[in-house]
Amino acid sequence: MNLDLSNLKEPGSSKRIQEKVQIPAFELHSQKIEPPYPFDLDLYIINTDDSFVFTGQLAGVLSLNCSRCLEKFEHEIQVEVEEELFKNELENLERINLIGILQENILLNLPIKSLCSNDCKGLCTICGQNLNENKCDCEREMIDPRLAILKDFYKKADQER
Ligand SMILES: [Zn+2]
Ligand SMILES: [Zn+2]
Repeated sequence: MNLDLSNLKEPGSSKRIQEKVQIPAFELHSQKIEPPYPFDLDLYIINTDDSFVFTGQLAGVLSLNCSRCLEKFEHEIQVEVEEELFKNELENLERINLIGILQENILLNLPIKSLCSNDCKGLCTICGQNLNENKCDCEREMIDPRLAILKDFYKKADQER
């Protein structure tokens, strides 16, 4: 979606956009980020003479993959959009790729780790069973890295005795 800025030629002129925007899927660290529904956009744009300043809110739902169980889940986000585009860096002063700006602002607001729920049990490291759905019979040793270090320590202590 391109944004028409041709009616914002005068420094000090501004406009507000309130509409539903469908944002195409994009990728981050090989994770596909899909917005399944249109986002609500409320954006204010002002021509400051040497730049265009965008401020506003973007709210909607993203479909993400849980980093523990790999299942898809829907994640609601609310993004404060703040962006300044300097005119001397723009190729076209009348049309701007608004979607690019919105995607960038979504990326900045993504959770570092996307989990379907805080107590997601993840996948069995042996058989791959999704442990949120079913238990499996694998004998998994809970390996906590801190405990593993302790275990090694005791082993050594034993051997030295
Ligand atoms: Zn999960
Ligand atoms: Zn298993």
